[in-house]
Amino acid sequence: MSFLSKSPWIMHYDGSSCNGCDIEVLACLTPVYDVERFGIINTGNPKHADILLITGAINEQNRSVVQNIYHQMPDPKVVVAIGICASTGGIFKECYNVLGGVENVIPVDVYVPGCAARPESIIDGVVKSLAVLEEKHRSIALMNSGKDVLAIETASVEDAKTILHLQKEAYQSEAEIYGNFDIAPLKQTLDEIRHDFSKKCFLKASFKNHIVGSVRAYSDGETCFIERLIVAPSKQDLGIGSKLLKAIEDRFPDSPRFELFTGHKSRRNLFFYQKRGYSEFKHSIVCDKITRVYLEKHRAEHK
Ligand code: SF4
Repeated sequence: MSFLSKSPWIMHYDGSSCNGCDIEVLACLTPVYDVERFGIINTGNPKHADILLITGAINEQNRSVVQNIYHQMPDPKVVVAIGICASTGGIFKECYNVLGGVENVIPVDVYVPGCAARPESIIDGVVKSLAVLEEKHRSIALMNSGKDVLAIETASVEDAKTILHLQKEAYQSEAEIYGNFDIAPLKQTLDEIRHDFSKKCFLKASFKNHIVGSVRAYSDGETCFIERLIVAPSKQDLGIGSKLLKAIEDRFPDSPRFELFTGHKSRRNLFFYQKRGYSEFKHSIVCDKITRVYLEKHRAEHK
């Protein structure tokens, strides 16, 4: 790994930890472990931070704070979940007010296990996060270079197999959230998705000629129904999902209303859509573990 030319700045946020992991994070900043030797500086301002270190699980109180900090950080950014609480919810996972690990509300790039995580492991995690940050810098620079490395275009039925593979990869994290690997996107067959091509408009996002994202939609009456917005896990957090959503909305210029749905525990998805103008309007129960949350958006000129 060649290190970044700029010193990466870190921000530390204590979600709901017992302070065990926080003490170890602070130990990394002391002269004994001295992470500053990697050029790293600790900052209290998310607008200056490249790397977010989070300790503790996510609960209803800190969920919006974590999302707020994350969205104030400039792109590219990296999130490191420190300790088993931040990684999965740990021993607090089953508590009535705990939502689980950090990945439930924002994307996590590096997980540092342990209870408490040892300073050596935290430093290892931070060094790994530098490699992730560097890769994100490279990808964004390429995407902004005007060299057409990211193309969003109509997918054809020949792309069905690749899109289905990507869909099964992208929905793994959703299945884990609900503890249910029988969700429809994971069970869809090649014949079914090929059949969908005859009824729906499919878009694909290609990065350096590899399909890394997709979305599909169809219109019925005044509403455009948007489905299965997916981005490859390794290419998330680079703005590809936003571009796909905007592109599919643009494909239906005569639709005054857009509708989509996600699961009630998919807080990252809910936040993503709400940030882009969608609002909840109804719920429906799929099974005892999953409630579908429907969101809608009205095109500005039709309001
Ligand atoms: S992982 Fe252990 S030490 Fe760290 S916050 Fe959770 S309970 Fe505390």
